[in-house]
Amino acid sequence: MSDDIPFQRDFSAPPEQIGELSPLIRRMVADNPGPYTYTGTCTYIVGRGQVAVIDPGPDDQAHIDSLLAALDGETISHILLTHTHRDHSPGAALLQAACGAPTYAHGPHPVFETGGPQLDHGGDRSFRPDRLLADGERLEGPGWTLEALHTPGHLANHLCFALPAEQALFTGDHVMGWSTSVVAPPEGNMGDYFTALERLLARGDKVYWPAHGGPIHNTKQYVRALIAHRMMRERAILARLEAGDRRITEMVAAIYQGLDPRLNFAAGLSVQGHLEHLIAQGKVRRAPDDADLYFLN
Ligand SMILES: [Zn+2]
Repeated sequence: MSDDIPFQRDFSAPPEQIGELSPLIRRMVADNPGPYTYTGTCTYIVGRGQVAVIDPGPDDQAHIDSLLAALDGETISHILLTHTHRDHSPGAALLQAACGAPTYAHGPHPVFETGGPQLDHGGDRSFRPDRLLADGERLEGPGWTLEALHTPGHLANHLCFALPAEQALFTGDHVMGWSTSVVAPPEGNMGDYFTALERLLARGDKVYWPAHGGPIHNTKQYVRALIAHRMMRERAILARLEAGDRRITEMVAAIYQGLDPRLNFAAGLSVQGHLEHLIAQGKVRRAPDDADLYFLN
């Protein structure tokens, strides 16, 4: 289905063990493997002696205890969140209770009015950041600077964090090596996602450290493949509309042949995300009296 993307699925870092990745970066994988988390959430530690922790992970005291044990004798000065999904942010409260460091994020979990069907991505609605981070804002510790990069698409409050000293970018769930990102309405926005991918292309990062799975070294080639993959999907949807399909279920059946039926709903939301992006571009319209009836313009 996605043979066009050079996925890397040989990641084998054991959970709850500290991994030394570079002069400034360490990683501990939480023990929460699953269909949306791959082998588990990667918690990153930036700096030495006085450190920032990125994505403390799920509501798992054992993970926080392992992290604190690994950082014995060091000071945690910042707790950073890429976004407010339950596999990323609930650990922040546990970590803060132990170390007292402030939490930093782009904002609390966004609120959506629509009551329609949606994937349970697991929004962490209880999290409130102590400090709001705007696009371009910088945080500093001894020997390191991190810069927030607002990258909505997977979720409106998603941030990547750049570590210029190593030309590295912590990409959260925006770009991952093991899978494409879930971009499903109402939480996800395909137009924002495209824009945020283009933004990464304009940068010179040498390595991406995603929140799930291992690093990505062929950064630009990989992002180009992600964009090409979504463009291909968009062309396929336009072709189905041209062939006479009007409803998402028809398009999913034609485009995702051989798909595990349990994934039909997620595929439908992905198609809906593309259709909304096509509507925003003026290429498609929705029937005024039927929200699941689409036409080419
Ligand atoms: Zn997420």
